[in-house]
Amino acid sequence: MLIDTYGRIGTDLRVSLTDRCNLRCTYCMPEEGLAWLAKPELLTDDEIVRLIRIAVTDLGITEVRFTGGEPLLRPGLVGIVARCAALTPRPKLSLTTNGIGLARTAAALRDAGLDRVNVSLDTLRPRLFKKLTRRDRHHDVLAGLAAVREAGLAPVKINAVLMRGLNDDEAPDLLTWALEHGYHLRFIEQMPLDPQHGWQREQMVSAAEILERLSARFTLTPEEAGRRGSAPAERWLVDGGPVAVGVIASVTRPFCRTCDRTRLTADGQVRTCLFAREETDLRASLRSGASDQLIAELWRTATRGKKAGSGLDDPSFLQPQRPMSAIGG
Ligand code: SAM
Ligand code: SF4
Repeated sequence: MLIDTYGRIGTDLRVSLTDRCNLRCTYCMPEEGLAWLAKPELLTDDEIVRLIRIAVTDLGITEVRFTGGEPLLRPGLVGIVARCAALTPRPKLSLTTNGIGLARTAAALRDAGLDRVNVSLDTLRPRLFKKLTRRDRHHDVLAGLAAVREAGLAPVKINAVLMRGLNDDEAPDLLTWALEHGYHLRFIEQMPLDPQHGWQREQMVSAAEILERLSARFTLTPEEAGRRGSAPAERWLVDGGPVAVGVIASVTRPFCRTCDRTRLTADGQVRTCLFAREETDLRASLRSGASDQLIAELWRTATRGKKAGSGLDDPSFLQPQRPMSAIGG
């Protein structure tokens, strides 16, 4: 098991498959992109599958989510999914993506064994999408979403980040649209994980504000207490249910006490938290011939060092060196 000194057990593994991306969301990447990892620094497909196998068979991981950067840019993605689906016990497999390219790959990913997809979409307005992501690809995201639905990868979750003065007026429209299409919508508070270090708490659209804006159009009732478990999203039934809307309030209502996550970066570093400043280098061990047992032990040791919380409210908080796109969101 991956158990930390606060008694939390890691069962949910986020695997970043690349730090590269075909969008440039303003809260995530500068226009010119970042200094990408060089190919030899990236884990190979075999190395990724080996680490996931160790996590699943020796460490109690039951859920694996592929992310990035943009995971659909990883050429071997379908093969990685298929090999993970063949593991025993079989983990649940999901993908967090900006949706570009899903129209081509959704069916292949389903056939390989992918269970679910989260698509990130912050606006319904194509021109604003271009401004927010610096790419004119709104149409591709919608096509990707339609393909996931057709492939039967339900429920499709949509992640949206609201930014003051840009799309913060869109919360009710996004929810109306999600209800019409059967998508499960979750809003995420913007976190200080941008490479530009431009995040300002006062500028962030908080969970309270998101709920207030939604309440102008919908009646929201908190979902039964106890249903949240370790899920980061708090959920509210919309107009009496059964559909709910989620809010991931990582900044104003952190869920660290029930966190069940561990993370693997595209270059083989284990991170116990998005906001961690320490990493454990599994790639070096892999490449120097370490046994599965040793790798599992290194992962357990890393987990014992997991901090109680993100430290965001601590006056001495420092952003991690890696931005979100290089950690794996
Ligand atoms: N490229 C994929 C995507 O956009 O879904 C996967 C990686 S992306 C880093 C994962 C999620 O993190 C997206 O939903 C994105 O909106 C979110 N994200 C990125 N930077 C963020 C930040 N500073 N605060 C909150 N969410 C952020
Ligand atoms: Fe790319 Fe996702 Fe970051 Fe947007 S949020 S730039 S899609 S990694």
